[in-house]
Amino acid sequence: MEYNIALLRGDGIGPEIVDSAAAILRKTAERFGHRFNFTSYLIGGAAIDETGIPLPQETVDGCLASDSVLLGAVGGYKWDELPGDKRPEKALLGIRQALGLYTNLRPARLYPALRAASPLKDEVVGSGFDIMIVRELTGGIYFGDRGYREGKYGTEAYDTEAYSVTEIERIGRTAFETAMKRDKRLCSVDKANVLESSRLWRKTMHELAQEYPEVEYRDMFVDNAAMQLVRDPKQFDVIVTSNMFGDILSDEASQITGSIGMLASASLGAGTRGMYEPIHGSAPDIAGQNRANPIATILSAAMMLRYSFGLADEADCIEAAVNRVLDEGYRTADLLGSGGGSALSCTEMTEKILGVL
Ligand code: NAD
Repeated sequence: MEYNIALLRGDGIGPEIVDSAAAILRKTAERFGHRFNFTSYLIGGAAIDETGIPLPQETVDGCLASDSVLLGAVGGYKWDELPGDKRPEKALLGIRQALGLYTNLRPARLYPALRAASPLKDEVVGSGFDIMIVRELTGGIYFGDRGYREGKYGTEAYDTEAYSVTEIERIGRTAFETAMKRDKRLCSVDKANVLESSRLWRKTMHELAQEYPEVEYRDMFVDNAAMQLVRDPKQFDVIVTSNMFGDILSDEASQITGSIGMLASASLGAGTRGMYEPIHGSAPDIAGQNRANPIATILSAAMMLRYSFGLADEADCIEAAVNRVLDEGYRTADLLGSGGGSALSCTEMTEKILGVL
């Protein structure tokens, strides 16, 4: 198979980690007889320096013409003083909108080899956990009607949570399909005991559940979900929820895995094209020092193979290689923890993974 992949290397450690992931993709293509064509486009601070704006039209057009997009990260001290709409981070919303990405998939997996990094107790973590959070990305309170008005106690501000059946159905379908590719268990998180929008969310999910009899479905209130994630994370396979609840729960879920340098994500729309990126930022404090952990970006590339290209064996192979290197005890600096030991550089970690791929 042949695929065109747009690389948005971005700022800070972005170029280092994207180059690592591209090397892993190249080797995977070689091994399985595919061809991946890479084209790099400017985004973020690098684009501001070159063109004066964080998201040039050429980048949008290049991404739209590609089969999928791999993003590093944007932002850094150099551009921190710019006004909001001129900052590198502005490009992220712009590119998500341009590509019509309404679903955010965030896996939170605790690798057995990294168990010590989790803030949860051993008896809670057990043999590890593997959760996929499916977050609605373009609706709800972050995009609803907002403003200021005169209220009972004087000036007040308001934001509105609104979801249509269409929006709920499309994210719900993605969640059920995701569950079908995993352990076939789906938990829908809402606040249906209080919010009208959540009641519609729940009703729509129940209707969808009829179409997926193989999936074990349940509902959970968001306050309970926040508690259950730290009490017994192993109970979850796939979680689906709204934009704001997903924002909060996915950060909680990532924190219990213990390491930001390990966490991948995918943003998907109606077609197969997606944008794949690590959940961390551009880490300007270690940029250019070859100290970044490339694994979150490498695992994001594996997600691209699985979710955009349907290449599950190839994705499994990359994930197994990462597991093996961690099992063998290799660590970048961020994974060493207080125990010490010697850290691999970004390029050394990439070489180790390439070596077992
Ligand atoms: P950050 O995630 O960049 O860094 C937080 C800490 O984690 C730092 O100490 C950093 O060194 C470390 N870290 C992050 N990724 C790492 C990796 N792969 N390997 C080793 N260590 C890693 O968050 P921040 O410091 O709040 O933000 C820095 C910049 O990144 C800001 O300009 C911010 O706006 C931007 N940002 C961009 C994105 C994105 O592009 N999607 C996301 C978040 C933040």
